[in-house]
Amino acid sequence: MRLDISRLLKEPGSSMPFEFRETLENLNLGGERMDFDEPVHVQGVCQYTGKSFLTEGSIKARYTATCSRCTADMHASLDIPFQAVYTRGARDEGSESYPLEGNVIELTSAVADELLLNIPMRHLCSPDCQGLCPVCGADRNRTQCGCGDRNEYDDSFARLLKITGESEGTDKEE
Ligand SMILES: [Zn+2]
Ligand SMILES: [Zn+2]
Repeated sequence: MRLDISRLLKEPGSSMPFEFRETLENLNLGGERMDFDEPVHVQGVCQYTGKSFLTEGSIKARYTATCSRCTADMHASLDIPFQAVYTRGARDEGSESYPLEGNVIELTSAVADELLLNIPMRHLCSPDCQGLCPVCGADRNRTQCGCGDRNEYDDSFARLLKITGESEGTDKEE
């Protein structure tokens, strides 16, 4: 996503629109991964203030994620606002600006930063996803394994108590 700013440099205060549809390499942040389903769409306007270049616009991305409950692959999308400032010689760590060299703005790293900042911590394949059974690991959206059936558990526990009680009773009789 390279933006040629030669024209803007001639005239402080001027601006120009930009639009990119570009395939980004898959991004990784901690355990969260972002595998894009299609080229990322970025559009906006770049303005030259005379000192810095201010880019503003939006990012649209569709990607494949993993459901936090059932671990199935699912499709998700982000449509987020985007803003980045490019300043010549901005190299210090604390700077909010991205560095600028030559007459080209490379938007890709700012776009990637923005996407990673906005990716949800949890994805759900559907709002009522039943998740995996904590006992046997079965996908509860597809099968009813029965492990989670609380009544069944209570029944068997009650039966166990009853058996223990009976055996105690038998002991006393002997
Ligand atoms: Zn799910
Ligand atoms: Zn189960």
